[in-house]
Amino acid sequence: MFTNDKKIKPFQDKIWLSTPTMHGEELKWMTDAFNKNWMSTVGENINEVERAVAQTIGCKQAVALSCGTAALHLAMKLAGVGRGDMVFCSDMTFAATLNPVVYESGIPVFIDTERDTWNMDPIALEKAFELYPQVKHIVVAHLYGTPAKLDELRAVAARHGAVVIEDAAESFGATYKGKQTGTFGDIGVISFNGNKIVTGSSGGMLLTYDIEQANKARKWSTQARENAPWYQHEELGYNYRMSNVIAGVVRGQLPYLNEHIAKKKAIYERYKAGFKDLPVTMNPFDGKNSAPNFWLSCMLIDEKAMCKQVRGDLDVCYVSEHGKTCPTEILETLAAYNAEGRPIWKPMHMQPIYRNNPFVTACGDGRGRTNAYISGSGVDVGMDLFSRGLCLPSDIKMTEDVQDKVIEIVRACFA
Ligand SMILES: *Cc1c(COP(=O)(O)O)cnc(C)c1O
Repeated sequence: MFTNDKKIKPFQDKIWLSTPTMHGEELKWMTDAFNKNWMSTVGENINEVERAVAQTIGCKQAVALSCGTAALHLAMKLAGVGRGDMVFCSDMTFAATLNPVVYESGIPVFIDTERDTWNMDPIALEKAFELYPQVKHIVVAHLYGTPAKLDELRAVAARHGAVVIEDAAESFGATYKGKQTGTFGDIGVISFNGNKIVTGSSGGMLLTYDIEQANKARKWSTQARENAPWYQHEELGYNYRMSNVIAGVVRGQLPYLNEHIAKKKAIYERYKAGFKDLPVTMNPFDGKNSAPNFWLSCMLIDEKAMCKQVRGDLDVCYVSEHGKTCPTEILETLAAYNAEGRPIWKPMHMQPIYRNNPFVTACGDGRGRTNAYISGSGVDVGMDLFSRGLCLPSDIKMTEDVQDKVIEIVRACFA
């Protein structure tokens, strides 16, 4: 139960989950676009960020688009996802990972999460191929900047001849066995949304090794015009290209990627040390094979330290208990002190819009539905992590003093 023995005062300025951190060069490149009047979807900033990201990531081609969701949509089209096609998708992720499957009239099939990195479980994926051997596409996300079990997932994909679309929207700059995430799939995607590790205020990119694919994406993203003296169309077009002004912001941010990662990592480690003796764990990663970008620091409350918490579709209640707590109590307490946390992504198989879609677990029968499982039973990992986990304030402008206070507030919830 939360007790305020130490009389902690609320933060005067709100402590955010993750906000943009600007350095000044962003304004320089935006102004450059303005002064040269390249205030459109062509210009030097776009060319430069495409070059710089392709080089940083180590892929051949990076296509600058209006957002990560647009990049995922074009990725689905390039990969050939069509009407009625089932696509194996990460289950515990942001809905934008897989909504584009539905834009193309495909059917997301959700694959449960493993506990080692909180990403798609390769065992459940293998199981899904037993149930649906016809499936040809996989969309895998790297949650909170932590690389998934890429070797295992790719081995399953290769065994079944499936195309992998890699949603690296949250993991820009993270590496797996020394290689950048976004380069492991047949097509990769990153995002420059305002709360990501580097931002353009909005924006995203499609990553590929294939120059023909890249040029197709560029064409589709600019209304699919043919090379003719008039507006000639043979294909369906979209207005998905990145603006040269936005590209200016991205251009100014890119040199700070590693600095941002270092600061995010320091935040993660400070939380980890601060919670050492609490019945909690931090969001896990494979320290031998991967280097996350630590976009968001998350914690998971041990089952034995969970007070009763019941979530409906739109509301939640909990029963405060001595020595125990729950994500809701911690989030409400943080909010009372003017700090922002967030629940773990609510798994897609639990979302009303996707409730009737197939969901495959590592040890279920493959047709299991949400309410068949009890949280913590070890059957449905996503639901369990959602009930016991939360994202902590992870803004890199947070000082150590402020973070120590956040730690104290969280610790008090366990009193
Ligand atoms: C942010 C995000 C996206 C979407 O990116 P936008 O640029 O906001 O469209 C997709 N997938 C994941 C996992 C994300 O976190």
